[in-house]
Amino acid sequence: MTDETNDPGLTSWCESAQASDFPIQNLPLGIFSVGERRRRAGVAIGDYVLDLAGIADLIDEDWRDDLSQPVLNGWLARGLDVQDALRARLVELLSDAKYRDDVEPQLVGQSEVRMHVPCLVGDYTDFYVGIHHATNVGKQFRPDNPLLPNYKHVPIGYHGRASSVRASGEPVIRPWGQRKLPDADAPEYGPSRRVDYELELGIWIGEGNELGQPIPISEASRHIAGYCLLNDWSARDLQAWEYQPLGPFLAKNFLTSVSPWVVSPQALAPFRNAMPARPAGDPEPLPYLSDACDRESGGLGIELEVTLTTDKMRQAGLAPHALSRGSADAAMYWSAAQIVAHHSSNGCNLQPGDLIGTGTLSTDSAEGLGSLLEISRGGKQPIHLPSGETRSFLEDGDEVTLKAWCEADGAVRIGFGECVGRVFAPA
Ligand code: CA
Repeated sequence: MTDETNDPGLTSWCESAQASDFPIQNLPLGIFSVGERRRRAGVAIGDYVLDLAGIADLIDEDWRDDLSQPVLNGWLARGLDVQDALRARLVELLSDAKYRDDVEPQLVGQSEVRMHVPCLVGDYTDFYVGIHHATNVGKQFRPDNPLLPNYKHVPIGYHGRASSVRASGEPVIRPWGQRKLPDADAPEYGPSRRVDYELELGIWIGEGNELGQPIPISEASRHIAGYCLLNDWSARDLQAWEYQPLGPFLAKNFLTSVSPWVVSPQALAPFRNAMPARPAGDPEPLPYLSDACDRESGGLGIELEVTLTTDKMRQAGLAPHALSRGSADAAMYWSAAQIVAHHSSNGCNLQPGDLIGTGTLSTDSAEGLGSLLEISRGGKQPIHLPSGETRSFLEDGDEVTLKAWCEADGAVRIGFGECVGRVFAPA
């Protein structure tokens, strides 16, 4: 699955690429703008964004139109072969010194750009494939029977809201909503007291399928254009009151944050693993969700970390506090390909630029929990911060940072960048 673009011996003449999240082996695409100038496509290399419009003369003429749009939908719709061809060309341009004079003027410092959601998101779906998260949350409601009977047979998901998907850095305005406190006779409306984050990966759909034409599991990975970090901000008090019988609604759709770079399947190739074996006694997936190739390489090999910084910590100059460390492979009961195959299995059409969340990725260890709901045991066990503060859920001024990276023997480490959000009081 790896090719010459994954060669660990490759280096770029852009020196900051070495030992960064964005070495020449990564080359994720994104949409950026500088000042008031229009949004455009770029690729991350070291501390810079390479402006693809600025190197239009150096890439295939046939690619230029789709790469000059303010969103990547048209480009991702063209499929992985074309994406891979661009990637190979970018490796040439960024590694061979003969192109340096032409390409270097088109680098813009990442600190000077604003990053945007890379696609016009037509549809956003959030799954629930983190089995330890599902178990931990289920235990809070059903201690003896945390997982519902369908969980190990069918990838669970719900349709989220596309309009409130935003890029990393978007302020998290504490939502107001209706809740019913456990000891209250009647519900009330007010600012959520239980704002939480959820550590997830996002899947960007590439080609997609026509209505009525399911994507077979064997082809599902060809429809994944790339991955990002995703924070499914959640208001737990609103959620507890509203979620039955139709599932998440206003507790989730006030904001979803994504990291801005689309990390391609080819960049992830050196890190892929077998899917973890299902525990003895678990049912085999039905044939439409079962694929030998996916079992062998459906694991993503992505490491995950969440940190928290409060206002008080910032003022005291304290380092961010680690809330969790884990890996996607240790969390995911269903693979990305199974998610895509299941979503389209009834004929539902996935479209270029659709966004799919994996669901909260918690491991089975206390260090790998992907939400405060789990870390604080539903608010019963507040965490202690280096500032002397405690937290059960997020307070105004709290900033949550999601990070992801991949490491493997014989490969150059790549990173996803960050997905950041700070909570603010409603205006
Ligand atoms: Ca979620």
